[in-house]
Amino acid sequence: MALERKYDAIVVGGGHNGLVAASYLARAGKKVVLLEAEDELGGATTSVRPFPEFDARLSRYSYLVSLLPDQIVAELGINFKTLERSIASYTPYSKKSDGSDGGLLISQNWDERTAQNFQELTGSSAEGLAWQGFYGEIAELAKRIAPSMLQPLKTEKALREEIALPQTWKYLMERPIGEVIRERFSDDLVRGVVLTDGLIGTFVSADDLQANRCFLYHLIGNGTGQWRVPQGGMGALVTELKRVAIASGVEILLNSRVAEIDNDAEGVFVKTVSGETFTARDLLFAGAPQTLAQIRGEIKPQSLEGSQMKINMLLSRLPRLKSGIDPKLAFAGTFHVNESYAQLESAYRSAKSGVMPKVLPLEMYCHTLTDPTILSPELNAKSYQTLTLFGLHTPAALFDKSPDEIKSAAKRAAIESLNQYLLDPIESVLAVCQDGSLAIEAKSPLDLENDIGLPRGNIFHRDLDFPFIDTSGTDLTWGSETNDKHIYLAGAGARRGGGVSGIAGHNAAMAVLAND
Ligand SMILES: Cc1cc2nc3c(=O)[nH]c(=O)nc-3n(C[C@H](O)[C@H](O)[C@H](O)COP(=O)(O)OP(=O)(O)OC[C@H]3O[C@@H](n4cnc5c(N)ncnc54)[C@H](O)[C@@H]3O)c2cc1C
Repeated sequence: MALERKYDAIVVGGGHNGLVAASYLARAGKKVVLLEAEDELGGATTSVRPFPEFDARLSRYSYLVSLLPDQIVAELGINFKTLERSIASYTPYSKKSDGSDGGLLISQNWDERTAQNFQELTGSSAEGLAWQGFYGEIAELAKRIAPSMLQPLKTEKALREEIALPQTWKYLMERPIGEVIRERFSDDLVRGVVLTDGLIGTFVSADDLQANRCFLYHLIGNGTGQWRVPQGGMGALVTELKRVAIASGVEILLNSRVAEIDNDAEGVFVKTVSGETFTARDLLFAGAPQTLAQIRGEIKPQSLEGSQMKINMLLSRLPRLKSGIDPKLAFAGTFHVNESYAQLESAYRSAKSGVMPKVLPLEMYCHTLTDPTILSPELNAKSYQTLTLFGLHTPAALFDKSPDEIKSAAKRAAIESLNQYLLDPIESVLAVCQDGSLAIEAKSPLDLENDIGLPRGNIFHRDLDFPFIDTSGTDLTWGSETNDKHIYLAGAGARRGGGVSGIAGHNAAMAVLAND
């Protein structure tokens, strides 16, 4: 008969949030076991060599960091750095005057070149000024709201009063962000660049308040909202979190998929697929809430489905652009394609009606321009580069009928979209594997469900919430609590989870300690 093992806390799921939660508890003196279903840790934060013959370690799923608070890094002693990108974004476009290619290049910090780029696109300085005003207001809100993410939840009224920026609060939390963008900006391309932050990982129209939630999470991270490149790739974060967890005394068991969770007034009982059993006072579930509901035989929480394509590429060199801009500048930040406001809304309407958008909105990132360490010295010497593509408005439902065929078609559409701006078609600069195949891999929302258990490919596990509660008198104090006294949500699907932040893990651990 299998031996039942006893702990103070069982953490289910070894993504970055599970590792954070386990480490905090172990450092508080708890006896902790972490059960991970797969044979490796990391979940959506892994680095891999997708093309094994090339020593290029790509962040296979998540790729940029903004939401991880310095406080967690410092408290856990994580030796992990993120690097600033010199360029915020580049958006190629066809000039209205003669149809030739231009581009909107926006530096990380406002400068003369950025001002000129806005002037060139719109013919006046007004849009550039609107941009500075809008993001200046949001930067102030980010600074004030970020610390609250690691505190017990406040009511909307309490947080609004604490932030004390009533105008900014109103347009970010109460009015549809699409309406606000249309009011504050007049150029379709500029509007689209702003809107993308409301749509990454969220399949809605610009006028749905869900886009506001997504927008907020993309702009308040760590008090700056800046998206930075993880040095050494996302896998470097996992390696460090694993080191810290083990040093803190966490017992980590891989290949331990939890299949049963029961509880009574005293605590919890867990059984894995292979029949191992564990008991503890508390259980922190760091997979998706939908998975927890399935294991418990409960109704799954409703959520939007995932709607993105992720394409990873290894290039033998960067492609030249038709606009003539140096590709090292164009690809240093976020490279937007087909992401004008009108194109985003049109793609949404098409996908919503069940048809894959003909003009696929997407954005791309070349991490090696900021962090060459993810390539071997040999590949660096040969000027190889990586490229990550994130395609929007490709919801899981569009792939159901014929997953592989539709994924191939979407991949082709993404490549065609990109190629319209390139002098060298992307296929001509992709590294070639020994078997003659090109170094490119694509992941649909269905792949994300199959490979790493994201429900219908939702990158945040479930819909994001505003970081406050609507009414007082609720039992939710950290956003981690469930109906069962000894079971907590510690993954991205907890309130204020979502993204690579560790916030859900931290808050679940605090909730457990508060109930000691
Ligand atoms: C393509 C893609 C791109 C993204 N890009 C970014 C980005 O650039 N920046 C950003 O901040 N966020 C990004 N995200 C979102 C972010 O990666 C996730 O929200 C976050 O990593 C979730 O972390 P987590 O630890 O909560 O859960 P996960 O990483 O999902 O980990 C959950 C873990 O639980 C395990 N598990 C599940 N069920 C069980 C079970 N029954 N028993 C045992 N173990 C179980 C899983 O195997 C997994 O290891 C992206 C996500 C995707 C998919």
